[in-house]
Amino acid sequence: MSTVRNPLTGWAERELVPATPAELAGMAAELRVRADGWRRADRKEVLTAFAAALASDDDLLAALVADTGRVGESSLERRLAAGLVGRWAREASALLAPRAPAASSVPGIVVGGDMVPYDLVGVISPWNFPLLMALIDAAPALAAGCSVLVKPSEVAPRFIEPLMRLVPPELPLSLVEGDGETGAALVGMVDAVVFTGSVETGRRVAEAAARAFVPAFLELGGKDPAIVLAGADLDRATSAILWGGTANAGQSCQSIERVYVERGVHDAFLDLLASKAARVGLTCEGGPIGPIVRPGHGRVIAAQLADATAKGAIVHTGGQIERHGGGRWCRPTVLSQVTHEMRVMTEETFGPLLPVMAVAGAEEAVALANDSVYGLSAAVFAASEQDAMEVAARLRVGAVSVNDASLTALVHEGEKDSFGLSGLGRSRMGAASIRRFLRRRAFLVNR
Ligand code: NAP
Repeated sequence: MSTVRNPLTGWAERELVPATPAELAGMAAELRVRADGWRRADRKEVLTAFAAALASDDDLLAALVADTGRVGESSLERRLAAGLVGRWAREASALLAPRAPAASSVPGIVVGGDMVPYDLVGVISPWNFPLLMALIDAAPALAAGCSVLVKPSEVAPRFIEPLMRLVPPELPLSLVEGDGETGAALVGMVDAVVFTGSVETGRRVAEAAARAFVPAFLELGGKDPAIVLAGADLDRATSAILWGGTANAGQSCQSIERVYVERGVHDAFLDLLASKAARVGLTCEGGPIGPIVRPGHGRVIAAQLADATAKGAIVHTGGQIERHGGGRWCRPTVLSQVTHEMRVMTEETFGPLLPVMAVAGAEEAVALANDSVYGLSAAVFAASEQDAMEVAARLRVGAVSVNDASLTALVHEGEKDSFGLSGLGRSRMGAASIRRFLRRRAFLVNR
């Protein structure tokens, strides 16, 4: 059985309490029965009340801080999560509106339609933003009229209890702790599953979902590139890339993890980025960078750093895993003289490393940015919006931030799909967030 560890101290706090297979099956059955009543309930009112409760609950915030060891970002996370629940409460009905019968190509026959939600959706969510990543899929599924059973990561389960206290009695939402087998069992009990996590586990979820004959939506890893071309506003680009690469200590799927800079502005960019990065401190010193949350992950970051420096990379700031109060930390780390022979340029880091590579121009930048098994998102900075858009349109990723970085963390309008190993199935953003939990039904009437 796994232990819940404090990311600030490394200490074991308690044992996990995983749902047994029988408990999980009982919960799934109960939630499934409640789906029908939920569809007839005033979902907007219930979800709006839930959003308001989330936005102000201090126990929930304290649990998020304990789960992740960070402070400011947990409060932003709670606000974003409450905002999403409120948003789907307001917007779902327009997306669920039935299609009125209209003339078809065959005289006398009219065609209309409606949407049918799945009864029970399973969500297997990661630890990096525990609340947000649980609700980013649960909220649209609930708004669509589904019941939802969430299995958050075993790494950050403290938020489950305070969150469950806020769930209104009418809302068919449950969260369970799991440990090694719960996620796999869940896939066999639901009508659709959303998994957010690593590629290897995503493959296993997809295989299990195929056997159970249910759709699986996979939201997986990334190795997001940023491209900076001559003429770009370097002050803006360095600030945005620093935030995009180091927010949440780089523990975000859409963190900037590699930077391609046009040769003419490379040195100026590097100096500015390194000087700004050197001023960003750790939360244990009053700065914004929290600890490495997943036990043992410091070794993964250290191995990438060692591989890069052994092959000739230069560290400008940061560059090592530090131990403070028992926790593991990594300062924002800027590297140069990097190549695609180094793991830091090809493997997901999930830490605050910013390797910067000089390129001849847009052509080489696009080729290198697309040289990845991943295709989640990217950022482009250029002299004009038009120049940046020409580059953006050639990137094999689901979302491109132009003249900024990691905007998908804050903006949910628009639609995207993941490329490569970053995911499978319509991805969560805009209307697709809710449509993926609905089946379309046509009515064809011979008048
Ligand atoms: P992980 O190890 O891949 O997944 C752990 C979770 O998967 C646990 O909840 C576990 O539950 C469950 N699980 C394990 N085997 C399973 C199976 N056979 N069937 C069903 N569930 C199973 O997750 P991670 O590595 O901590 O997550 C980090 C990754 O998430 C990074 O790669 C990051 O990029 C990605 N991520 C992506 C996004 C996005 O939106 N694209 C967002 C955030 C994070 P049990 O212990 O109960 O089995």
